Amino acid sequence: MAKKVNEIMKERMAFSFEVFPPKTDKGMETLTKTDGVLDKLCTLNPDYISCTYGAGGTNVGANLATLDAIKAHAGVTPITHFTCIGNTKQGIKDQLQQYLDHGIDHILALRGDLPFGWSGTGGDLRYATELVKFIRDSFGDKFTIAVAGSPEGHISCRSIEADISFLKQKQDDGADFIMTQLCWDMDQFRWWMDAIRAAGITLPVDVGIMPVLDARATINMALSRNGCVMPRELSVLISKYWTFPDPFTADAEAKDAKSDAAYAQKKADFKEAGIEYTIGLIDEYRVAGISGIHLYALNKYEDVDRIVKESGIIDLI
Ligand code: FAD
Repeated sequence: MAKKVNEIMKERMAFSFEVFPPKTDKGMETLTKTDGVLDKLCTLNPDYISCTYGAGGTNVGANLATLDAIKAHAGVTPITHFTCIGNTKQGIKDQLQQYLDHGIDHILALRGDLPFGWSGTGGDLRYATELVKFIRDSFGDKFTIAVAGSPEGHISCRSIEADISFLKQKQDDGADFIMTQLCWDMDQFRWWMDAIRAAGITLPVDVGIMPVLDARATINMALSRNGCVMPRELSVLISKYWTFPDPFTADAEAKDAKSDAAYAQKKADFKEAGIEYTIGLIDEYRVAGISGIHLYALNKYEDVDRIVKESGIIDLI
């Protein structure tokens, strides 16, 4: 029987990828075909690959199909993300049983982002703490349960202390390890590691890292969902390789403003500097008391492959 991910983390640092369920048949083919993205990612021997879950259960079919495709790779554990949004208790039981029937027994238990205009989850459970407890009560030890941790505090938490206390509750309710929200602020991260340990949280911490490859995606990820701090070094990088009029202008329009070649060069230079920045970040994380590196592969292989090899995390296994 394959080792549980939290057991691996007790022995050594783990490394893993995150993918999302493609919205189109073409996207699914690119991800799952022979020699496709998943096959290539698996040549790097990750301990696990997780697949995101659309809030409200959108794209559930593609989520399961992606997890099945991950499972087909021996030695790589599939982990599904799962949220409370719009899910009744019975619906959760049915979906979780379906995962077990497909041999998927690792789950990241989340509340989910509330859709715009909603004040609650629209389902039977309000928080991830309740979901963890519900999974344990309904399925015993059949699932290995990961939970989210936010080193800067969840964007809507009333205080970081309250947020940490809810993380402790997730541990008390039966969670097995923590997967973190994006955090580029290493001082804050180190503070948080000390704070959660002082709060009695002993779970392994698996750090989520979004490779810095594109200015627009980086700004978007930091500001639109999490409100993350961007350290000066990262801001300087974005500024240095700024594409005019701005990174949010559609590529075709922006290229009109400058020559195609100059525009493409700026983007390529940003990516190169971003890969270097990401590798530096991984170095800092690896000495900050963590148990795993979780890279958002964004359903691509090439740049992630470089980061895994050049950072040395390929040698973790
Ligand atoms: P919770 O832990 O429930 O926290 C939500 C808020 O409520 C926080 O402010 C917390 O402080 C507060 N809180 C928690 N418990 C209590 C309580 N008992 N009483 C009062 N307040 C409480 N979203 C998706 O839709 N799909 C995905 O696939 C997905 N993947 C993710 C992967 C990772 C690694 C991470 C970190 C996040 C992911 N998300 C995903 C986003 C996540 O759903 C959001 O961050 C969501 O807003 C919070 O989820 P949570 O599990 O942290 O919620």
